[in-house]
Amino acid sequence: MSSQGETKQFQSETRKVLDIVINSLYTERDIFVRELVSNAADAMEKFRHLSLTEKPEFDAHVPLEINIDCDDKKHTLTITDTGIGMTAEELETNLGTIAHSGSGKFIEELAEAAKKDVSLIGQFGVGFYASFMAAKKVTVQTRSWDGDDGHEWESDGGGTYTISPCDGLHRGTKIIIELKDDAEEYGQKFTLERIIKQYSTFIPFPVKVEGKKVNTVEAIWTRTKNEITDEEYTEFYKFVGNAFDEPLYRLHFTADAPLAINALLFTPKENFESMGMGRMDPGVNLYCQKVLIDQHSENILPEWLRFVKGVVDSEDLPLNISRQSLQDNALVMKLRRVITKRFLKSLAEEAKKDNDTYLTFWKTFGIFLKEGVTSDFEFQKELAKLLRFESSASEDGKMISLQEYVDRMKEGQDKIYYINGPNRAAIESGPYTEMFKKRDIEILYTLEPIDDFVLSHLGEYDEKKLVSADRSDLTLPDAPKDAEDKDEDKEESLGDAVQQSLCKWMKEVLGEKVKEVKSSTRLVDSPAMIVNVDGHMTSSMERIMQAQGAPEMQMGMGGKKDMEINPANSLIKKMADLRTRDEDFAGDIARQIYDNAMIQAGLVIDPQEMVNRNYRILERVAGE
Ligand code: ADP
Ligand code: MG
Repeated sequence: MSSQGETKQFQSETRKVLDIVINSLYTERDIFVRELVSNAADAMEKFRHLSLTEKPEFDAHVPLEINIDCDDKKHTLTITDTGIGMTAEELETNLGTIAHSGSGKFIEELAEAAKKDVSLIGQFGVGFYASFMAAKKVTVQTRSWDGDDGHEWESDGGGTYTISPCDGLHRGTKIIIELKDDAEEYGQKFTLERIIKQYSTFIPFPVKVEGKKVNTVEAIWTRTKNEITDEEYTEFYKFVGNAFDEPLYRLHFTADAPLAINALLFTPKENFESMGMGRMDPGVNLYCQKVLIDQHSENILPEWLRFVKGVVDSEDLPLNISRQSLQDNALVMKLRRVITKRFLKSLAEEAKKDNDTYLTFWKTFGIFLKEGVTSDFEFQKELAKLLRFESSASEDGKMISLQEYVDRMKEGQDKIYYINGPNRAAIESGPYTEMFKKRDIEILYTLEPIDDFVLSHLGEYDEKKLVSADRSDLTLPDAPKDAEDKDEDKEESLGDAVQQSLCKWMKEVLGEKVKEVKSSTRLVDSPAMIVNVDGHMTSSMERIMQAQGAPEMQMGMGGKKDMEINPANSLIKKMADLRTRDEDFAGDIARQIYDNAMIQAGLVIDPQEMVNRNYRILERVAGE
């Protein structure tokens, strides 16, 4: 038929793209198959839509499917679809020009990428023209859905193409690729199967390679929720998450505004990072109209949600968007914000529905949400609602939310208090909770070193400041009346002058170990405690550094802290008295009180020095 064929020039932009595509070497050529299959799927989606509105009669019975056939001997690859097809005019505009908006800039960028790193081109999404990565010659035979005569388009990717009539075609498009010598692998069945499985599994039409259906899982995220069974969801989770278990949570949501979104997200049961399997890759794949754009996408959810598995599909995204440009694409950023907020909201809803399951989730994945608070200001508000901690009012091992804390705050209390410690027993027997107990004020127990870091990053919740109970400037609301009454039989404090002189002396004894020794107004029973001074490293920071083994953090070198002593405590009073008789021994006691307070603050002391001193003290006691 070539006698009737018309030879035409490619539009100059198209020629440039073809030049780049043909004259570069590719490491990621596979994607040309993806481009052609996605075009085929698009054409069938269009037909599916048309058949709803226009009721086309020509070839109406032809089933919607994609057939991929190959000839390993002739080195050809054929992709046939039963979509809308193209008329002669459509062939000319669709496969002769570049419709890309701002195509000039696109070509510039493409050429740039080709110069820098040839593997980038593959990701650029040059669409149909990508076929020339692997083709000596491309033939497109197509017949439009309206039944008009069929046509054949042919080109070797040089400056021209021909269009000629072609008889005997069914509705749809057949693309025949004569493979380049170095691209013969694409004439092999298993190569094609592999590529389809990798990129096109969720194409919602059968994709057959040599007659065998290769894609088994359909795009279930685009189906109506109540038509999908739990089993189907689980199957899909296993597929997309490479998992063997069942998901803990599932979120299937659809939105039309502000963006068209179909998202199906799963939370697994296990945290493989905590099981020592190394850092996880992001688990969510980005699709556009059921075509995979970005596998394990780093752009669609923040890094700290890398434990989430699933699919996000938005038809607002341009299918040909490159993975590079996903990063700073405004639409993608918007999508990321919407999806992240929706996901966090769904966690809050799950917590409301079933607190026990949520606590299981929290124990497994809470660490990721904490990472989110410290690394991502954008979602702090949503994340704050999801945090859980033990508290003085919770049962051992049970956790509460900041909201629960706020809901039962006392009148006159305007802050949320917390204290870090290795476990509940250690915290409750330590000095920091005494004044809270006495005043009947709830205090959160933060049991992980990172918790204080998280809460200080958060700063406040519901406009209430989050305050660590080991701060030197801590003030608490007045104790309730009855607690005050009970105080009447409380021990007499040392006189002001004695207190002052005692503090001064202790500071001399402890030297550089402390910034200041002060009389406490808040200690109830304990003799002393270490408190943090603004502008210096806090105890919790120091504990984190110690946990990471920073050598300069050994033995309290982290930052100067104040020590508060309890002037009504009997040991302190006895020490004040002893000081007048035996200053050396009183000094040992002062140093021991300091070390004890450091231990209660979870900080490192010099164990050898402490043990030696402890023996000296014991010997004295035993000898009397
Ligand atoms: P895009 O898919 O982004 O539009 P392509 O370069 O992949 O860009 O394809 C260009 C156009 O050619 C498509 O928009 C479509 O109109 C047409 N086309 C390509 N393949 C087919 C096909 N198999 N069936 C019908 N039309 C097709
Ligand atoms: Mg395309």
